[in-house]
Amino acid sequence: MIAELISVGTEILLGNIVNTNANFLAQKCAKLGISNYFQVSVGDNEERLSDAIKTALSRSDIVILTGGLGPTKDDLTKEVVAKTLGRKLVDDPHTRNNIKEYFARLNGTAITENNWKQALIIDGSTTVDNHNGTAPGLIVKTEDGKIVILLPGPPNELVPMFQQDIYPFLNNLQPGLLYSEMVKICGIGESKAETMIRDLIDQQTNPTIAPYAKTGEVHLRVTASASSEEEGQKLVKPIVDELYRRFEKNIYTTDENENLEDYIIKLLAKHHLVLSTAESCTGGLLTGRLVNAPGTSQVLKEGFITYSNEAKQKYLGVNKKTLEQYGAVSEETASEMSKGLLNQTLCDISLAITGIAGPDGGSEEKPVGTIYMGCATHEKIWVKRFNFKGNRQKIRDYAVINGLDLLRRCILEEYGE
Ligand code: ATP
Ligand code: MG
Repeated sequence: MIAELISVGTEILLGNIVNTNANFLAQKCAKLGISNYFQVSVGDNEERLSDAIKTALSRSDIVILTGGLGPTKDDLTKEVVAKTLGRKLVDDPHTRNNIKEYFARLNGTAITENNWKQALIIDGSTTVDNHNGTAPGLIVKTEDGKIVILLPGPPNELVPMFQQDIYPFLNNLQPGLLYSEMVKICGIGESKAETMIRDLIDQQTNPTIAPYAKTGEVHLRVTASASSEEEGQKLVKPIVDELYRRFEKNIYTTDENENLEDYIIKLLAKHHLVLSTAESCTGGLLTGRLVNAPGTSQVLKEGFITYSNEAKQKYLGVNKKTLEQYGAVSEETASEMSKGLLNQTLCDISLAITGIAGPDGGSEEKPVGTIYMGCATHEKIWVKRFNFKGNRQKIRDYAVINGLDLLRRCILEEYGE
């Protein structure tokens, strides 16, 4: 099945708002196994919107429109869809009642006359209740079996409505179901990862493998179309096993909802390890990422931002001579930072980062993007040099992901899975 997204709103065309609705819906369509060939943005203009709807209906099975369902005059999506499909707008008592109740919950906010415009629905359509606003979503089946879905523009209305009602509705349109697992890989670049699975992608039918590149990570979605969840799992398993054979320890999870920091926090907790961090060029970004994950309080002891040489000496006990002889960005300094951190904070494992994020400060030997990381336990110190490319922000982002990944690998090596 093919879906087309139409985002309605002059604000989008003017660049005043970012089209996060299309981003959200496209991801959901991909998850549902619904192909998305076109995404259209169109202003609040009757003629152009009508054209967009006609074009979409000519080449797609499902058309999802967002925005323009509000009470004001420039909100015209419902009216234009009705006109384009040759349908009338009719009063819907259920929606009328919902609007009344919605305003009653707002304690005294008066209903203005134009709010009742939202109680009009397209003749023959199904309404989808909006628990966070007044405009209901609408699902219309056309005479030739196509589906037109109208959703409110504000993401805080659209997202819950989609999750609760539209997703199951779209899922039911398809025979069987789609079962997928997400294999998340870290420490291997996108093109190398793709080369390693080229043969699998070339042979794929069911399941399929779709690669997604993230900063510093590659995610592979393995999707099977099946008649039941169990069958889906059975179909996906040999492919996921094969990916494990090829990528080994570079895979950190197959859980869609688990990210790298979640995984690391769980791994630390599992081994009863307490971590401390010291960051120079990443300025707290790595520790901030870890703190995103629930459960951090159990495993994170202290985090330092030791930007200056003075701070590296004062808080981590880095030797002045080391800094003078090898420089702040060096294997020796990273090693002393991580060792000092371990001793100063009495933790079980420490991670230290020092590097040149640019744009200045690079040299021939250590160009911008040179980063050293040290990870220490009471038994061992790992030090690794990285050479990242890109601007200051990119380099720091790569440093964060690779720092987390180094930590993960050190824990696995020393303490196991
Ligand atoms: P309202 O009842 O608020 O008027 P509506 O369904 O008529 O809702 P619009 O008027 O088109 O929707 O947009 C209202 C607001 O919703 C916008 O100002 C914007 O903040 C948000 N919005 C609309 N479309 C999008 C989109 N495609 N992506 C992200 N946000 C959007
Ligand atoms: Mg509006």
